Amino acid sequence: IEHRTPTDLSPIILEIVSLMGSRAERHGICLRTECEEPAIVLADPKRMEELLGNLVSNAINYSPDGGDVILKAETRGKWVELEVKDSGVGIPPEELNRIFDKFYRVRHPKTRKVIGTGLGLSIVKGIVEAHHGSMDVESAPDKGTTFKVMLPLFE
Ligand code: ATP
Ligand code: MG
Repeated sequence: IEHRTPTDLSPIILEIVSLMGSRAERHGICLRTECEEPAIVLADPKRMEELLGNLVSNAINYSPDGGDVILKAETRGKWVELEVKDSGVGIPPEELNRIFDKFYRVRHPKTRKVIGTGLGLSIVKGIVEAHHGSMDVESAPDKGTTFKVMLPLFE
């Protein structure tokens, strides 16, 4: 059941960072955030936690050699842009359009011990679409991955 209400994403972002900070640290990853202004969207706060939690947990899981994960929120006109950027294994270009499919997982020697069902990103995509937003991904093998989500601001 959904309860959509005007929701500021900034405290949710801070909560995700504090919840996942110790896991990141254990993996030798520096998890940081940049979110200066409030960003209010009409959303179920639980769904927003799920969205950001999935992206940040992926960023940590698929960065086996440590590195940086940064979670940013920036308002752009009537939209807020959420960005989750990592310096992990990356995703081969030929697989980029499949990672949002249910149960799809990329095979990579460095991440084969990561346990997952392949559902996280399909859930994320569903949440974004249900909130009238859009998302995209940029990635390069061994360089890292950036997910961007655009959500309409509440006015
Ligand atoms: P779970 O259902 O537990 O989230 P999962 O993480 O395998 O399992 P998704 O979150 O849907 O599933 O991600 C699908 C696949 O996309 C992952 O298995 C991984 O191969 C790839 N992937 C997702 N995020 C990243 C990332 N930040 N860097 C590299 N690969 C990624
Ligand atoms: Mg996942």
